[in-house]
Amino acid sequence: MARVRVSLSPLLFVRSNVSPPQTLPSITSRKLTVSASFMSRNSAIETEAASLRTGGWKPMCLYFTQGKCTKMNDASHLEQFSHNYVMDSQLNAFKLNNLKPQDLEYLLVLDLEGKVEIIEFPVVMIGTRTMEFIDSFHRFVRPTAMSEEKARQYIEGKYGKLGVDRVWHDTAVPFKNVLVEFETWLTKHQLWEKETGGSLHQAAFVTCGNWDLKTKVFQQCKTSRIKIPSYFMEWINIKDIYLNFYKRRATGMMTMMRELGIPMRGSHHLGIDDTRNITRVLQRLLADGASLQVTARRSISDPNNVNFLFKNRIV
Ligand SMILES: [Zn+2]
Repeated sequence: MARVRVSLSPLLFVRSNVSPPQTLPSITSRKLTVSASFMSRNSAIETEAASLRTGGWKPMCLYFTQGKCTKMNDASHLEQFSHNYVMDSQLNAFKLNNLKPQDLEYLLVLDLEGKVEIIEFPVVMIGTRTMEFIDSFHRFVRPTAMSEEKARQYIEGKYGKLGVDRVWHDTAVPFKNVLVEFETWLTKHQLWEKETGGSLHQAAFVTCGNWDLKTKVFQQCKTSRIKIPSYFMEWINIKDIYLNFYKRRATGMMTMMRELGIPMRGSHHLGIDDTRNITRVLQRLLADGASLQVTARRSISDPNNVNFLFKNRIV
């Protein structure tokens, strides 16, 4: 979660609450939806491309980002919401001339939301050789240690003003379940296996600050009464990379974007939008020739202890 609050009223795009149904489809209708989605994918991409050519921009469908959109054949829904990560990333592609060979092949940008408990878990995966978007994993997360009423107020206060509280209520699942799905996703990309454990293969998380993996995931694992998974033990704080590469300090995502002239897209403090904006900063760092290296590692023998690996760093 980016820590610096900035007023974004002209840029804030409030999503419409008029969206897919309250309940998820039955297995039968989901099968039909999947095959229909497949057939309509090309036309969705064409609509998207046309919209981008004319300078239009749409918010992502937050059912789609979680693999739960049932309206891929609904023209007005496709008109209103983006269903394609790739076109948007290509818009922000930078020149590849200065790209350095990297130790890591993949980077997983992560920007959690939720001060009390985690309420959103968004990840964007890019390759370091071409900087291209590869895949994403996005889930809204249902708190388990607070009362339903407290959770309702919390979500209303946080997501109500962004117009995404309904999709949160429709889709959120407990943190434990999110991790089970996330581990399947990691395994699909050959980044980690439950049987062998350990850190990610050829990949690392990239966060904006140390809060997400030093503090929040650590606390949430305690709240959810689970052991902190082995893939969360090290990460790259993009602010440390930024400081050491450009020789200037950035207090947060908004500062980095402003200094690099990267336009903000989406809603600040909606995790998936912040994650995509941090990904744009990361793509720019790679394009300018920065080397991405792990900046912080949690001690396996003493999980309360985190070692910071850069001399110059943002405290
Ligand atoms: Zn959709």
